[in-house]
Amino acid sequence: MAFKELISNPKIIQAIEESGYTTPTPIQEKAIPIILEGRDVLGSAQTGTGKTAAFVLPTLERLINSPAKGKKSDGPRVLILVPTRELAMQVAKETAKYSKHLSQMKTVCIYGGAPYPIQNRELSRPYEILVATPGRLMDHMERGRIHFSRLELLILDEADRMLDMGFIGPVEDIAAATPSDRQTLMFSATFNKNVLGLAKNLLKNPVEIAIAAEQTTHENIAQKVYPVDDLSHKYQMLDHFLEDAAVTQTIIFTATKRQADTLVEVLLEKGHSADALHGDMNQRQRTRTIEKLRRSQIRILVATDVAARGIDVQSITHVINFDLPNNAEDYVHRIGRTGRAGRMGTALSMASPKDRYLIKDIEKFTGQILAPNVIPGLEPKARTSAPRKRFAPRRDFKKPFFKRSGRR
Ligand code: AMP
Repeated sequence: MAFKELISNPKIIQAIEESGYTTPTPIQEKAIPIILEGRDVLGSAQTGTGKTAAFVLPTLERLINSPAKGKKSDGPRVLILVPTRELAMQVAKETAKYSKHLSQMKTVCIYGGAPYPIQNRELSRPYEILVATPGRLMDHMERGRIHFSRLELLILDEADRMLDMGFIGPVEDIAAATPSDRQTLMFSATFNKNVLGLAKNLLKNPVEIAIAAEQTTHENIAQKVYPVDDLSHKYQMLDHFLEDAAVTQTIIFTATKRQADTLVEVLLEKGHSADALHGDMNQRQRTRTIEKLRRSQIRILVATDVAARGIDVQSITHVINFDLPNNAEDYVHRIGRTGRAGRMGTALSMASPKDRYLIKDIEKFTGQILAPNVIPGLEPKARTSAPRKRFAPRRDFKKPFFKRSGRR
């Protein structure tokens, strides 16, 4: 299928072509016609599947084809809510990319951790699309700087993560401040009870879109698990991984901010080019670090989960889990930082003995078996796989009548 069969505006088509896309991804093929019909959507999609364009492209086409209600000063026509600052910037960047030939489509992006005066100035000028994180948006709403009287479309991206981060209250308050005849789109990587509850409250008779499992389980990413005994074993294993010239650029995940900083120090001492990305850094530092990664000025980014969400750097060849995350969903998000836009990627995870049940959860969640790999010379001492079920001895089991003896 060609994009021209989905989108008719030549200026949007031009921007798509300039982005280098030749064919729509599966989520784009499915979602774009339904969104153009004006239907609400409940979509299951991971980042890396072309999900952002799947909702931004038809949104732009709709805005162009229907005249706006009210005055430009009445606020945005589209609100895109996202869980983190990085994702907000990422989505705003894509929106600007696809609307670059549409002079009347201005996007404003607001998120926490950034100075208010610049955001206030941007909000005081006319704009069509607002990309925002819920907390900062509520602040601006409470100060009377944002109104939604002409809002036509509400989009919730990564709804599961927004709920994990405790945004359910703000999301419902924000939705309640928008017109009830709006169109609502909700995307989520996973559909747990909370997400479905929120969907029921916000969506009207939604069309459910799910892309086939193989497209969400990162088939283009080779996943390998390496059992490790302790921290020093992890460091040796990491040295081994980083010796591989195929690791062009990598994100290494640690469990805590302090561990991320410590690991960066260790790597710098060993002569690697590395930088950290975590929630203790201010927004300017974070943006600068991601830019360095994008421009290949650093080979290694050591990050925590929150900070790495939404990173879309296509040159990342490997994701290394120095520490595994707490749950299977986060594992899937982490490994999705590689193998972007149809490329191949590799995810290497170090698993301590305590992680054996988590590995089982991940296998269940992704439907893929993670067989333990061993590097000669770096074999683990402890067993990492989940123990097999022990069977109780049969009651009627009798000892052998006679003792086995050697050959007489
Ligand atoms: P997303 O799932 O929105 O995070 O997108 C992942 C990556 O795919 C981004 O780098 C997009 O620029 C890219 N992308 C989106 N749509 C297409 C397409 N139709 N063909 C190739 N790449 C795409």
